[in-house]
Amino acid sequence: MIYQGVLKKMMTENAEEIQYYLDMKTDFLNMNQLINKEISLSFVTYECLNCGLEKTIYRQGFCKSCFFETPNAGDWIMKPELSKAHLDVEDRDLAYEKKVQLQPHIVYLANSSNVKVGVTRKQQVPTRWIDQGAHEAIEIVEVPNRYLAGITEVALKEHVADKTNWRKMLKNDIEDVNLVEWREKLKEFIPEEAKEYFIENNSETNINFPVRKYPAKPKSLNLIKTPKYTGKLVGVKGQYLIFDDETVFNVRSNEGLVVSIEV
Ligand SMILES: [Zn+2]
Repeated sequence: MIYQGVLKKMMTENAEEIQYYLDMKTDFLNMNQLINKEISLSFVTYECLNCGLEKTIYRQGFCKSCFFETPNAGDWIMKPELSKAHLDVEDRDLAYEKKVQLQPHIVYLANSSNVKVGVTRKQQVPTRWIDQGAHEAIEIVEVPNRYLAGITEVALKEHVADKTNWRKMLKNDIEDVNLVEWREKLKEFIPEEAKEYFIENNSETNINFPVRKYPAKPKSLNLIKTPKYTGKLVGVKGQYLIFDDETVFNVRSNEGLVVSIEV
């Protein structure tokens, strides 16, 4: 069977073992069912996730003009502390920004390769953690808007990492840490405005990824340079497909590429 569609990050379902789905326009592929099977990935063309045109993808699945214009690629997406909707101040489209920013947000600790702090909308828990390949995570504060989450993250970044090492994450070179202890340790660094939103008593969420074999030396597949790749899928972690020959493919960072998948 050959499936074709524009890549968007895989959808996930939090089950005993995470279930991954790839939306290929006419079909949903359950990637878990493809584990231990040989599949081919081919680059077909580009399709911007905003305008739908066949234009080179610049960042986050958008062509260059959309990246600089569409409300869902504003700077406050990657830097939540720049959010201004709570002040009634527009970045690109105030109605859109109010809808996204003025809702409950979570500042969390996640451990994918090391403990890191991050921000997400509450409705994206635990999806965000799954996308990062975190095997454990915990909420620290729940605030009413994105700005408060952003300034909390900035303050905590002084004391804990905010980046993941994707190679370590894929090699499963991980250790279990006590995230409740981390949360208690970081509590004093939460900014005044967000202190009342500290979450006192919840426990770690553990996430179990469908990986049969971890790569010792993951090699990242660039589908533009290598327009056709064939390999045996041995697992999925975060937004990465992992193959038997240690090739890995980050679906999320290839959003906007039209691909065909032969199973
Ligand atoms: Zn576009």
